[in-house]
Amino acid sequence: MLGKELSFKMNKSVEAIEISGIRKFFNKVSKYPNAISLTLGQPDFDVPSRVKNAIIKAVEDGKSKYTANAGIVELREEISKFLRTLDINYDKDEIMITVGGSEALFSVLMGLLNKGDKVLVPSIGYPAYESITKMLEGETVVYNLNDDFTINIDSLEEGIKNGAKVLILSYPSNPTGALLSKEDRDSLHKIIKENDVTVITDEIYSSLCFEDDYYSVAQYNDIKDKIIYVSGFSKMFSMTGLRLGYVACNKKFLNEFIKVHQYGVSCAPSIVQWGALEGLKYCLDDVENMKNSFKERMEYVYFELVKMGFDVVKPKGAFYILPSIKKFNMTSEEFCDKLLSEGGVACVPGSAFGNGGEGYIRISYCYSKESLEKALKAIKQFVDTL
Ligand code: PMP
Repeated sequence: MLGKELSFKMNKSVEAIEISGIRKFFNKVSKYPNAISLTLGQPDFDVPSRVKNAIIKAVEDGKSKYTANAGIVELREEISKFLRTLDINYDKDEIMITVGGSEALFSVLMGLLNKGDKVLVPSIGYPAYESITKMLEGETVVYNLNDDFTINIDSLEEGIKNGAKVLILSYPSNPTGALLSKEDRDSLHKIIKENDVTVITDEIYSSLCFEDDYYSVAQYNDIKDKIIYVSGFSKMFSMTGLRLGYVACNKKFLNEFIKVHQYGVSCAPSIVQWGALEGLKYCLDDVENMKNSFKERMEYVYFELVKMGFDVVKPKGAFYILPSIKKFNMTSEEFCDKLLSEGGVACVPGSAFGNGGEGYIRISYCYSKESLEKALKAIKQFVDTL
């Protein structure tokens, strides 16, 4: 009714996109109060106590005023040091602190895109890439993934040859749990070097990598001017609600992104910046413990799914697993609806992550072992009825 009365014309590009499929499904779950939800990317750990205390101290010390647009210099310096431990070199003046990785992605895409620009995104990927691009009147084109969720390099190269201006990489991946291998990093290096393309590499789960070595296209200094590195602290310090992320890139890019950031949010939350500084200095052991716990849960969930007969790729990072449900002859949404109403477990339909995600469901395993055990038991019972 409201729609009819409202004569004001909204922005068409915004009207045309839908709210995230992850949230949509999360909202459905509220109708089933006894269901176990494995839908969100919110780690179940408490924020490390030193981070909490630093935030409290920042409030008490009156550090609740605007910070520099780019963020407090102490944190930018510490991020620079931290990135160097991953062989990624940006100095403090090449870093901007943002309101979560989300605002980082938004400010970057807004700073880069003109109407009609093509953005190359993974066929199964974090939904914000496509939605933000569309809101900014850009066009998304996809590159395919192989069966093990690694990049299909030929498909990516074709997308670039077909005129993509921006390429988005996302490792460790939400929702597949895949990592970038050394070989793929090296192939990408060559492609990026030889082509006129700018790369956004979203590495917000970098602290949750279950392998010994970490590979990123941001590790090459000779293509550094084409790389925009996006990350944040939501997952690293289990502080999704505290809203802190960052962008690292060359100054020419950063000067533009800072304008978007300035008019959008002015600066990231001041007190949380002091918390993240403490975290980077003193809480990396806590991060390691969280990672080990996620790895254990991943092993558990993976083997239980295999035992149930699911076709599933073993994740190497982040805290998601994406089993195939193709053999059940249902869409991912039908499967998730049925699993919720009949099995009492909520997972996210793979279709929420792009067309390539159809035929899969995403399980977040960043929930307690107890919830995971209950959920997997219920999934088994449900699957046995199919
Ligand atoms: N990138 C990816 C791949 C994500 O999964 C998320 C959050 N789920 C974000 C960016 C944004 O994170 P935030 O804004 O909470 O820092």
